[in-house]
Parts: sequence; structure tokens; C-alpha cells
Amino acid sequence: MAKTKLNPFTVAQQQLDQCAKILRLDPGVQAILRVPSRELHVSIPVRMDDGSIKVFQGFRVQYNDAKGPCKGGIRFHADETIDTVRALAAWMTWKCSLLDLPLGGGKGGVICNPKEMSQGELERLSRAYIDQVARIIGPEKDVPAPDVYTNPQIMAWMMDEYSKISGQNQFGTITGKPLALGGSLGRGDATARGGLYTVREAAKELGIDLSQATIAVQGYGNAGYYAACLAQSLFGCKVVAVGDSKGCVLSETGLDPQAVAKHKTKTSTVCDFPGAKAISNEEILELDVDILFPAALESVITEENAPRIKAKIVAELANGPTTPEADVILHKNGVHVIPDFLCNAGGVTVSYFEMVQNFYMYYWETEEVHKRLDRKMTEAYHGVLNTSKRYNINMRQAAYVVAVERVVEAMKLRGWA
Ligand code: GLU
Repeated sequence: MAKTKLNPFTVAQQQLDQCAKILRLDPGVQAILRVPSRELHVSIPVRMDDGSIKVFQGFRVQYNDAKGPCKGGIRFHADETIDTVRALAAWMTWKCSLLDLPLGGGKGGVICNPKEMSQGELERLSRAYIDQVARIIGPEKDVPAPDVYTNPQIMAWMMDEYSKISGQNQFGTITGKPLALGGSLGRGDATARGGLYTVREAAKELGIDLSQATIAVQGYGNAGYYAACLAQSLFGCKVVAVGDSKGCVLSETGLDPQAVAKHKTKTSTVCDFPGAKAISNEEILELDVDILFPAALESVITEENAPRIKAKIVAELANGPTTPEADVILHKNGVHVIPDFLCNAGGVTVSYFEMVQNFYMYYWETEEVHKRLDRKMTEAYHGVLNTSKRYNINMRQAAYVVAVERVVEAMKLRGWA
């Protein structure tokens, strides 16, 4: 674990600076890209169940909209900070660009502990957040979605609130909605599924037989859970370890991801899953597996533990799990990193499909979503791989090169730079 928690925005800026050097970016252009274009800080009063009023702090950061309306999730987290939201908004900008979506990057966050809030309190908080940010969101401006500890129900409340404010249904303003309210088929598991398509391509490149591969999944939320299920069902991988914030479990003979999820629903953690051995949150990252999926929060692979990472592929389903110092070590040790804004881009890609379907009022079959997602992810993966070979740089640097070049082109064409 990191001794001192790194500031994720410093990490995002360092990564961009590296890319600017590789691309020999004009310093003025680099200066524009180092900071968010706009941010809104809001105080959100919410009536709690005991009758008291609590004022939560929230943010919406619109990082760059050169390529289209900002896009990105909203996180509900006790440790949320403005710098985390800034970093995540920057990464959304690169993510949408890398996947060649006609979108910019944004992110929202509220400092709260959703685990300690009732459904009623969560609903009032979600609606009050939208009341505060309504003036800067909308299908042509900025389109929020789920992220850590927000889900389709929360998106439904948010969409409803925005619709009430605008006096008409506004399905295209929020994505990750339930199916009954203009959600897209295939959005639920899209982040993990997209990540697995990139893992499939990486395995081909590295000559790894996925049907014999072992995996460890750190984080058992939406992305981690579906990654475990799909790795097993699509490719026949063996899931040897999974973990959440409370601890991790290991079974050399393999875990049943669905049974673990049921256990987590009952007990609120994967810990004490029958028949599995308990391991720590540090140990799971260092297991001798073929593929490691960091699928929780930022800065978990650092210069301290990177030398002990044994996985052949690190597939970053989380945003920002690896620090720049750790990147250097992993690259030197031959670990193939599928960087976050490539690996986890399936979520926003299907969010974009959801927007398209909302605008057309015509909805696709699941197979159509999967086919289009596969095409997008595979193309993006090979674009990054080829760039990394051409410039002799690591996969993250290559992803930056592709993404930043496109944003810069859009800025130049608009006359911003
Ligand atoms: N929160 C997800 C991400 O980090 C999805 C964003 C979206 O769908 O707009 O990519």
C-alpha cells in the first residue's frame, strides 16, 4: 500500500507532461490541457431521516470539451476530494478521445458515505445534487453517469430531477439508467466486458492461453464482479482470488464468482467466503497469477509494491490504480499493463451508445451492443499497441499519445490553440 496517498491530480498532470514531451507539444497547448476548463463546487443541503439537515459538498468538473459535450460519472465517496475529481475528469477526456467518441471529459463527486445512508437519504441527495449542477449539464453540455457507489437507481432519480427542472423528459442527459428508463442493454457489464476484450487481444499478443489462465480481482464492485464472471464464462479463466475494501479471499482450485457475490450481498464483504483462504489487500496484488485486475480505487500499485507484482498482464479496470513511478518498474519488469483509460473504457463507450439510442428513440439488441463495443475496444487496443511499438514507449504513454493528439487536433481546428 502507498505510504503517503498520492494526489491523483498530480499523477494525471505528470502523465500528461510525459506525453507532452514525447509529442513535443507547444507549451501553451500543454498549459491548457494541464488544468480543467471549468469546475463547479456546490453545497447540497439534504433533509436526513432524523429530521436534521446535513450539508454535503459536491463537485462537477468539466475538463475539456473540444471534442464534444463533457462525459463522465459521479462518485459518492467519503474520501472524495476536488483533486480526485479533477484527475478523473482529465482521464475521462483521454478515455473518450482514445475510443474516438464525440465527447469531452468531465466528472462529478459528492463527499458522503453512501453505506451509512438510507435509500430515502440517497434519493434526496441525488436530486439535490442535480438541482445544484443542472445549470451546467445537459445533452449538449455535460452528461453524467454512474461511478464508484452510484448505480442505475441513482441515475434514474437524477434523470427524473433534471427532467422536472427542464419540463420534459431528458433521457439523453444521464447515462447508465435502468432499462425501463432509456438505459441501454449491455451497459451493466460494459466496463468489465470492454476490459476483457482488451485482455483477449493482449493475450494473443503475449501468447497466453486464456482457458488456462489464472486471475485475481482487487475490488468487487460492478467492474470487478463482472470481470470475474466474464473472464470465466467468456474465456474459461480460473478466478483464484477476489477482494474488497474489507479483505480478500484466495482459492487455488478456483472461486465461483457468483457464489462469492451472493455471499457479499449477505455479509457485505467477500471475506469469510466458505472454503477460501483469507489474504490481505496487499497480498492479492502480488499473487502469481496471469492477469491481475485492479478494480477499485486509485494509487494501489506504487513504487513500493510494483517490484513484487508477478502478473503477466495488469488490466486496469479502476481509474488511476498505478502511480507513474510504479509504471516505470512494471515496464522494466515486462509486465504488460493495459492502462485504465483504455481497459475501462467499455463503460463510457456503451454510455455513448445509450446517448445515441436515446436521441434516436430506437433501441439495440444486446448482440448489437456487444459487437459494436468489441469493435471499438479492439481497435483502440491495437491503436495503442502499435503506437507503443512505433515510439518505443509503454502502453500508458502510447494511450496518452493517441488520445492527446486527437484532443489537440480538435482544439486547433476550433482555433483554441
Ligand atoms: N464512470 C465510468 C468511467 O469512469 C463511466 C463514465 C460514463 O459512462 O460516462 O469511465
